[in-house]
Amino acid sequence: MPSIKENLQQVTAQLPEGVQLVAVSKFHPVEALQEAYDAGQRLFGENRAQELIAKAPLLPKDIRWHFIGHLQKNKVRAIMPYVSVIESVDSVQLLKLIEKEAARIDRTVDVLLQLHVAQEETKSGFSIDEVIDAGESGELTCYPHINVCGVMAMASLTDDTEQVAREFELVRRTYVMLKDGPFDESEHFNHLSMGMSDDWPIAVKYGATLVRIGTAIFGTREY
Ligand SMILES: *Cc1c(COP(=O)(O)O)cnc(C)c1O
Repeated sequence: MPSIKENLQQVTAQLPEGVQLVAVSKFHPVEALQEAYDAGQRLFGENRAQELIAKAPLLPKDIRWHFIGHLQKNKVRAIMPYVSVIESVDSVQLLKLIEKEAARIDRTVDVLLQLHVAQEETKSGFSIDEVIDAGESGELTCYPHINVCGVMAMASLTDDTEQVAREFELVRRTYVMLKDGPFDESEHFNHLSMGMSDDWPIAVKYGATLVRIGTAIFGTREY
């Protein structure tokens, strides 16, 4: 079996310039993360607050943690000291709460707006209409302690690559609408986070700047 280091090298060698890899380390032990760190990886993604809080203090301080899972309101305060980017902001309510908690500890936090484009109802995120409406009403752009840096999305879990491509294209179009609309004055709104182990090459074709890859680096997860 190839090592974590070899997997990382294989993935990063294929990424075009300007596309960053978020190594999704959920359910993997700190030893595995340390191995990736030693191979040069600095961006890691976790999707559960408890797990992020448990792991972050045990690992080097220059890791940048991306939170990529559904964030419960009562967990925002706990992750705030560790998290570099919250990729999974799925409501205006959550934005307001993040603003409050970031202000409380006097920091600025980067976030992405999660868009729901997949067929599965279980996935969270703003619908396209919701995010456009929220943008027009000013509810995405009024937070002094938040930099909204772009959008994040997951495609449907399917072998139908045309379906996946259509969804990524919809994400890209929505990103452009927001960038040319409510965020046209923003110097931060530059990121499209999409693509996982099975579909990242398609996501890159549609303009991803961040890909979130777990299994192809760390192997299968044991839940
Ligand atoms: C788990 C997860 C990933 C990585 O999935 P893999 O298929 O293991 O690469 C990416 N994004 C999110 C939001 C995830 O929860």
